[in-house]
Amino acid sequence: MERNSSPHINIRICPNSNVNFFSIDVEEWFNIIPYDEALKVENWLNFPKRIEKNFFKLLDLLDNYNIKTTCFFVAFYAKHYPNLVTEAVRRGHYPASHSFYHRDISKLSPEEFFEDISDSKKIIEDISGKRVYGFRAPSFYVPNDKIWFFEKIIDAGYKYDSSLLETTKFNNLKIGANPLQIEIEGKTLFEFPISTFRLPPLKFTFGGGYFRFIPFWLYKNLFFRRTLRQSPIVFYTHPREIDPDQPRMKLPPIRYFRTYVNLKNNESKLLKLLNSFNFTNFEIYIERHFTEYNYE
Ligand SMILES: [Zn+2]
Repeated sequence: MERNSSPHINIRICPNSNVNFFSIDVEEWFNIIPYDEALKVENWLNFPKRIEKNFFKLLDLLDNYNIKTTCFFVAFYAKHYPNLVTEAVRRGHYPASHSFYHRDISKLSPEEFFEDISDSKKIIEDISGKRVYGFRAPSFYVPNDKIWFFEKIIDAGYKYDSSLLETTKFNNLKIGANPLQIEIEGKTLFEFPISTFRLPPLKFTFGGGYFRFIPFWLYKNLFFRRTLRQSPIVFYTHPREIDPDQPRMKLPPIRYFRTYVNLKNNESKLLKLLNSFNFTNFEIYIERHFTEYNYE
């Protein structure tokens, strides 16, 4: 139904967390938008399978520190390799959705998007036996019109999103570093912005390829300074990021660099990160601060 007046939007900043957020986007080594499009979903299962070994290795690292994380599954893999989901849940992690086919959401219609996130939520719930409350857009690519983006996520039954960089604008306001509660026409969604930092003139996220690229002493310093200001850091990684032997894709030079830089020492770097800082997950945070939400 078309709306003829602009919707009523209310944004509240949530309490600060004194711990950071760890998250894993669970996908294969070749899921790099837009280059995975040419590989066609029908062929995905024919490529070397590395997701399981790498994902379980990541879970082993987290087990050492008793960190429970949020796992954003690409539902295609949940469907074909359900043990990824059941094993994560068995170890106490929280399943969430990273869409069904890892497509660039900014290119989908609102209807296509709704179908994708509804289907992915359902299949991950069926496999895990848990409610799925979180969504993250592949590559953090979100449509310019954030209103329908948030509305569809709410309508599909999600409670939170973690797709927007903290520098993104919504309703003429910079999203900022803290978790938010976004209310649109009386319906609420939490947003956990992806943390960024500046090394002028460049802007980086704290996770993914940028974590691998920056020397740990510098990264740790930036991380520490940021947490001193009491704003939590949303960190993300992928199973492929601890896999130096993965096949290499043909990518443009800058993308190639970002995708494959320092894969070799990333596992030990992650251990240093886990040694240095405290992490929680989005579900625990919401439950702790908003008692009406219960994730069991
Ligand atoms: Zn992804």
